[in-house]
Amino acid sequence: MTRNEHPILIVGGGLGGASAALALARNGFRVTLLEQAPEFGVIGYGIQLGPNVFPMFDRLGITEAVLQAALHPKAVLMVDSVDGGTIARVPTGASFVSRFKRPYIVIHRADLHRILLDACAATPNIELVPNADAVSFEDTGSGVRVPTRDGRIFDGAALIAADGIRSTIRQQMRGEGEPRTIGYVAHRTIVPMADVTFDVDRDDVVLWSGPGFHIVHYPLRDRTLFNIVTVFKTRNAEASDTASPHPDLDHVYRDSHPTMRALWAMMDLSHRGWVSSDRDPIRHWSRGRVTLLGDAAHPTLQTLAQGACMAIEDAVCLADFIDLSDGNFEEAFRRYEQARYLRTARVQYESRYLWDNFYHVGGIEREVARETWSHRTEEDMFDCLAWLYDGIDLPQQQGVAA
Ligand SMILES: Cc1cc2nc3c(=O)[nH]c(=O)nc-3n(C[C@H](O)[C@H](O)[C@H](O)COP(=O)(O)OP(=O)(O)OC[C@H]3O[C@@H](n4cnc5c(N)ncnc54)[C@H](O)[C@@H]3O)c2cc1C
Repeated sequence: MTRNEHPILIVGGGLGGASAALALARNGFRVTLLEQAPEFGVIGYGIQLGPNVFPMFDRLGITEAVLQAALHPKAVLMVDSVDGGTIARVPTGASFVSRFKRPYIVIHRADLHRILLDACAATPNIELVPNADAVSFEDTGSGVRVPTRDGRIFDGAALIAADGIRSTIRQQMRGEGEPRTIGYVAHRTIVPMADVTFDVDRDDVVLWSGPGFHIVHYPLRDRTLFNIVTVFKTRNAEASDTASPHPDLDHVYRDSHPTMRALWAMMDLSHRGWVSSDRDPIRHWSRGRVTLLGDAAHPTLQTLAQGACMAIEDAVCLADFIDLSDGNFEEAFRRYEQARYLRTARVQYESRYLWDNFYHVGGIEREVARETWSHRTEEDMFDCLAWLYDGIDLPQQQGVAA
């Protein structure tokens, strides 16, 4: 039994779009999920997920499956790129779970995506359409129309754009042009753990920070894989993702710790790079029967490792408001953005602040950061993160009136 004759269209089958499809279908709505790529969910790198996302997984019915595919690091560490000393440490073992009720995990993105897509496939009312590159939208007043590049037209009751940081739908809605770039580019690599022969922490999430660069690494899939992300300042960071940048890199890791240099040597830069970018927060990202979700609405630097978590929170929150507004999409979208903009703006602003003032500082600034943060107790660290990791009250839990 479906609640809507015409499907709700979702553009973008990333983690945000797939979560929104599942959340809506579980509330009884018919959904069509349009993805430009020929295949859903192929980004094959790791992702960190905070405890705040687990109540969302509960609502999506996928918590068990996610936990089975995940690893539980004992700590998230920031270490000094020159001498390897600890700058900051957030324990993510038993005391963390006791404080935040849910774990901190790392998981292969492809595994998380597969869990979401399997759940979508097992839920009636979701149509998954690959090879559907949405080029624009029309709000007809009583519905929406979305043409795709190959000439098809999709009609729906409303449109949710989860099409990422370079959202086509946002561009039509707001006309802002390219996202803000900051001169950094990220590269991701996964290698078999057996190939990691040098001395390095293979259990935790470790972030090596230095002036103009950082490296993050952690294990995946029962510790059989090692995920490495390197981020560095480059003169070649352009407004779009780079297929193969040729940055002037010789200087970047020259003075860094031997482990960092060994990590750097494992990187394969011939693969795609992600230009680090975001946008300024906005208060409103809906118009009529059209709204935005995830990176399309509030793209953030990856400093807090929360972009996907925010997209998944958006998805469940939005599905609740659509449920409560029972077909009045304009009303649902207004309540959704009102509920989400402050939290997501804080993620955007704090990510920028920490990127400049914590992750990438050098010289005396680095020493001051280390002096300041290395003395913080476990409780101090938990208090700093509570606004984020304590999570949100979902509309249906708050008993928000219909
Ligand atoms: C290096 C790096 C590390 C990160 N680490 C973390 C982390 O550890 N934890 C975390 O929570 N977040 C992390 N993030 C952020 C996270 O990746 C994003 O915030 C998240 O993927 C956003 O999800 P989304 O569904 O909104 O958009 P996306 O993941 O960008 O998905 C958008 C989807 O829309 C599709 N699409 C685009 N245009 C169209 C169109 N016109 N028609 C149809 N389909 C379209 C795309 O193909 C894609 O599938 C990281 C980001 C980077 C760059």
